[in-house]
Amino acid sequence: MGAFWPCIVSKHAWAYRAEDDGYSAQAQKLKHVVLHQGKMLGGGSSSSFLVYGRSKNLSCGDWDVPGWGFDDLYPYYLKVEDLQVPDIINSPDNVHHSQSGPIILTTHGPETGFTDTEDDMLTGFSQLGYERLNDANNPNTLGFGPAQLNADQKGFRTSTAINYLLPIKDRKNLFLLKNTLASKIVFNGTRAVGVEVIRESGETQVFYANKEVISSAGSYRTPQLLMLSGIGPKAHLTDLGIEVLADLPVGLNLKELADIPLFMTGNQGLLSATQLASATLNLDSFPLPVVDGWFSLNNNCQCPDFRIYPLTFGAASPFSTVGCNLLFNLETSACNALTLANTVKDVVFHQILLGSPKSSGNVTLRSLDPKDPPRVFTGFFSSDEDLTRMAEGVKRIARLKDTPTYKDYGAEIVDLELQQCKDYEFGTPT
Ligand SMILES: Cc1cc2nc3c(=O)[nH]c(=O)nc-3n(C[C@H](O)[C@H](O)[C@H](O)COP(=O)(O)OP(=O)(O)OC[C@H]3O[C@@H](n4cnc5c(N)ncnc54)[C@H](O)[C@@H]3O)c2cc1C
Repeated sequence: MGAFWPCIVSKHAWAYRAEDDGYSAQAQKLKHVVLHQGKMLGGGSSSSFLVYGRSKNLSCGDWDVPGWGFDDLYPYYLKVEDLQVPDIINSPDNVHHSQSGPIILTTHGPETGFTDTEDDMLTGFSQLGYERLNDANNPNTLGFGPAQLNADQKGFRTSTAINYLLPIKDRKNLFLLKNTLASKIVFNGTRAVGVEVIRESGETQVFYANKEVISSAGSYRTPQLLMLSGIGPKAHLTDLGIEVLADLPVGLNLKELADIPLFMTGNQGLLSATQLASATLNLDSFPLPVVDGWFSLNNNCQCPDFRIYPLTFGAASPFSTVGCNLLFNLETSACNALTLANTVKDVVFHQILLGSPKSSGNVTLRSLDPKDPPRVFTGFFSSDEDLTRMAEGVKRIARLKDTPTYKDYGAEIVDLELQQCKDYEFGTPT
């Protein structure tokens, strides 16, 4: 986890930036969100924040995509998991999990430190009316629980690279090219027969398949690769002079998760010293207290409107400054306001993610050069309904500061002093 911060801005990350739509992300540096993606073996699983969250078995109608419902995915969750959380294994929640997959899952246990802070965060959420879950991934109910982490008992990251590739690295039929960019899928008529790649040296090579070609280049690069290969919307490909093999809606209907950060200060604590020692001594460990949960705006409804994983930065933590500038990429003045608030007090960062967005964006080609990043429009808040729901969600989470537990911490919302909001009174509903 300590290595998480350098990974997101190093050569091991794709430096994508969404386009400035003149509307969303206007308090970000350069007015566009950074789209973080891992550029190494294991992709994002090698640089992620380690939180393992599954979908819920709670249908919300228009969000359902054929083949991607909970029932379709559930067998794969079980195939992946080696859940090593005694509180779940020794409870009825264990029926929803498996211990036979390659990806070890833990929570902050006594070894890796499920802290009093996490416990208090869960108490705060329950005082707000949300169920406290033993298993945050219980498929049948919303609520908040200890985050399940892609980490082993010692806090070391588990990933597709470590847990799937490493054990089979000596197989004769596995050949892996690092530092190599797939530039085109090669077709014979409409049948994919191979892949063209550009090696680190700049040399182009083509590899032919005996059976099939599988592309898994992530949600931005996969549509880019398909479009460069002639599979995509006819008008867009024709504009760029690409021969159209199949006119398909590739890159359309992108559903990105809009995310609003809500920061609250608490008491002065010693958490920061513990976090720093942990991060310095063990670069792979996971030092930040974090919980995970889902909630609905309508308390009588089980439709998950929001996912949140709040995490805590100790007083004077360098992580809040680095995270604000590099991960969230907020304007420098906003990050300075956060750093100032964090100087002597702990800060809880509530990352509020809007579920089931009505808005959609798209991925198109910037150019014919496969090295150019694709053009991504997130479409954030292009649906008014999403904006209204997000505002309601933020107001709901802001009420945490009035719960007895958060009050004991002296919780206050950090005013990021956004220029865009200077004509509005801070903390008022409009
Ligand atoms: C900083 C960060 C934090 C995250 N935190 C969490 C978290 O806590 N919990 C969670 O559930 N999810 C998290 N995610 C998201 C999660 O990592 C991704 O959803 C997941 O990795 C997506 O898997 P994927 O296989 O679709 O794509 P990716 O993991 O992006 O894998 C795609 C791979 O293809 C490679 N590639 C792309 N284009 C080409 C090409 N043309 N040629 C050759 N190779 C190519 C990429 O380098 C990459 O290795 C996080 C992601 C990041 C980056």
